[in-house]
Amino acid sequence: MTVELKNKVAIVTGGSRGIGSSIALELAKEGANIVINYNSNSEAADKMVAEIKELGVEAIAVQADVSKSEDAAKLVQAAVEKFGQLDILVNNAGITRDTTFKKMTEEDWRKVIDVNLNSVFNTTSVALPHLTEAEAGRVINISSIIGQFGGFGQTNYAAAKAGLLGFTKSLALETARTKLTVNAICPGYIGTEMVQAIPEKVLDKLIAKIPQSRLGEPSEIARGVVFLCKDGAYITGQELNINGGIYM
Ligand code: NDP
Repeated sequence: MTVELKNKVAIVTGGSRGIGSSIALELAKEGANIVINYNSNSEAADKMVAEIKELGVEAIAVQADVSKSEDAAKLVQAAVEKFGQLDILVNNAGITRDTTFKKMTEEDWRKVIDVNLNSVFNTTSVALPHLTEAEAGRVINISSIIGQFGGFGQTNYAAAKAGLLGFTKSLALETARTKLTVNAICPGYIGTEMVQAIPEKVLDKLIAKIPQSRLGEPSEIARGVVFLCKDGAYITGQELNINGGIYM
C-alpha cells in the first residue's frame, strides 16, 4: 500500500540544516507541506523555507527549542493552525557534547539527554492525537549507530540514542492498532557539520572502519524517511540502518 505524500503535512525538528534539511527537501519533493523547526539559526531556516516553496508546496519555519515542553507544544500548534492537520513527525533535532565519562559534567549529560531524547517526548506527546487521526500517520525518530554499539566519549549521546530505540518500539506497540507507524532510522557517519566537527585524524580512522569506505550523504537518510512514509504501512517498531555496513 503506497501512500501519496501530496498535501500531507510534516514537521521536521532541526530541519534547518544537515540531515533534517535534506529530509524536509525530500518530503517536499514528494508533495508534502513542511514545517521546518529550528532552534537558533533563523537564517538557515528561512533559506530552507524559500527553497522548499520553489518546489510548489507550502512551508513555514517555527523557532522552538524542542528540549522545552512549552516550545514543542508551540511547534505542533503552529503546524496544526497553519495546515489543519499533521501526518508526519520526524524527530531529528540532535546535538553532541562528546567527552569521556570521567570528564563529563552533569550539564553535558543533561543537555544531550534533553535535546536528543526528552525532546521526543515533548513533541510526540502533543502531536500524537493529530497523528493518530491522520490517514497514514508516521513518527520517525532519528537515532544513531552510536545508540546501537556505543561510542568512545559519547556516554550521554549513546544513552539518548539507545533510549530513542526503546521509545520507538514501545510506542509502536501501543499504537499498532491505529494507522500510525513508529520507526527509527539509525544513520552511520553522515557528512554534516556534526561529523565535520570530529578531528580530521579521528574521522579518517572512522572512515577506514566503514565497509563502504565513505561517509553517508544526508539525502541517503532522507530517502529512508520517504520510504517509511510512502511504503511503510506494514513497518512499525523497526530500526532502519543506513550506515555503509559499519553495523550489521
Ligand atoms: P546538525 O548539527 O547538522 O543539525 C542539527 C539541527 O538540529 C539543526 O537544524 C539545529 O538547529 C537543530 N537543533 C539543535 N538543537 C535543537 C533544539 N534544542 N531544538 C530544535 N532544534 C535543534 O546535525 P545532523 O544533521 O548531523 O544530525 C541530525 C540528527 O541525526 C541528529 O539527531 C543526530 O544525532 C543524528 N545523527 C547524525 C549523524 C551524523 O553522522 N551526522 C549520525 C547519526 C545520527 P539550529 O541550527 O537552529 O540550532
